[in-house]
Amino acid sequence: MSTLWVLGAGQLGAMLKQAGTPLGLDVRPVDIEATEALPLQADDIVTAEREEWPETVATKQLATHKNFVNLATFPQLADRLTQKQWLDRLELATAPWFPVEQDSTADYAYQTLGERVLMKRRRGGYDGKGQYWLKQAEKSEIPDDWKGQAIAEQAINFDEEVSLVGVRGKDGKKYFYPLTLNLHINGILYASISPLKRLDQYQSTAEVMLSKLMDALDYVGVMAMECFRVGDELLINELAPRVHNSGHWTQAGSNVCQFENHVRAVTGLPLVEAEIKNQSMMVNLIGVDLDYQWLNIKSLELYWYKKDVRPGRKVGHLNFCTGNLEVLHSALNSLAMPAPYPEAITWLKANLPA
Ligand code: ATP
Ligand code: MG
Repeated sequence: MSTLWVLGAGQLGAMLKQAGTPLGLDVRPVDIEATEALPLQADDIVTAEREEWPETVATKQLATHKNFVNLATFPQLADRLTQKQWLDRLELATAPWFPVEQDSTADYAYQTLGERVLMKRRRGGYDGKGQYWLKQAEKSEIPDDWKGQAIAEQAINFDEEVSLVGVRGKDGKKYFYPLTLNLHINGILYASISPLKRLDQYQSTAEVMLSKLMDALDYVGVMAMECFRVGDELLINELAPRVHNSGHWTQAGSNVCQFENHVRAVTGLPLVEAEIKNQSMMVNLIGVDLDYQWLNIKSLELYWYKKDVRPGRKVGHLNFCTGNLEVLHSALNSLAMPAPYPEAITWLKANLPA
């Protein structure tokens, strides 16, 4: 059996490895700073846990392998400018935007997009980093180092945020998980819920949107689409050509989780419709210390990433899956965590099915 190499050795790489193990696959996440020669074989397969990477000894070896799945897609989606251009070309609804050029002005932004405009750096942003609000009321201007480096987006007054995680095989067949409801606080994902009956009405629309993209890119593997729901409409916020935080609940809530689906797809193993179990919710662990007392909580599954804890840093997540909603509510009551968790817990309680 060939080896599946993963460019990147963070938590997503670790969870891809974990998912590949019962399948008898040798999945090897590679630290992008590794300097040794990798024993890559011609029939090995390469995937990535991140959409962009610096050129290093390790990434050069992986990126020149002929079986790097989706290699051409990564730069297209990693740059928000080309990602937005793809959405426009495919006529997929997204927040109105324009590229921030050297001669762009804040006045132009306010005239075309309204009084609140969100600039996003073309590259490298995540968890709300790489964002800059322009507010007409505060007479904000575009800083010089954002010119030529960003896109400007209309502030969307969304009802809620949902995401769709799908997988596409080499034969073009696609499968999707139910839509996930997401809570972001300060641009970072705190909590997710899936499935939710009330989101079923948007499922097929969302699937058509993501299908169009995956087909146009001839994409193989798991892709995530983050959306704003505005009334009955879905606007695409952004795309991730990889396994995604909003799909972590599938580790508990589906017989085939997103990590296994990605591994299956890129190695050419069979894909099937996943069985969704009961009710799932996920709570990200952001800037909080590991607390093994969490393991006393019924239906809880802990994923700790073994990273140094820093404010605002994702260091783990908690999955919950059960058919008993009372268990979920009592789990939430047991989670004593600092601000802004009370807000996330209130949101979860309010959005879980009654
Ligand atoms: P990720 O970690 O998911 O890659 P990110 O930092 O790259 O996130 P986005 O997903 O674009 O960036 O934005 C993060 C969050 O900021 C969104 O989930 C949403 O809550 C908010 N946001 C983004 N764009 C807009 C917008 N145009 N209007 C209002 N809120 C927005
Ligand atoms: Mg996002």
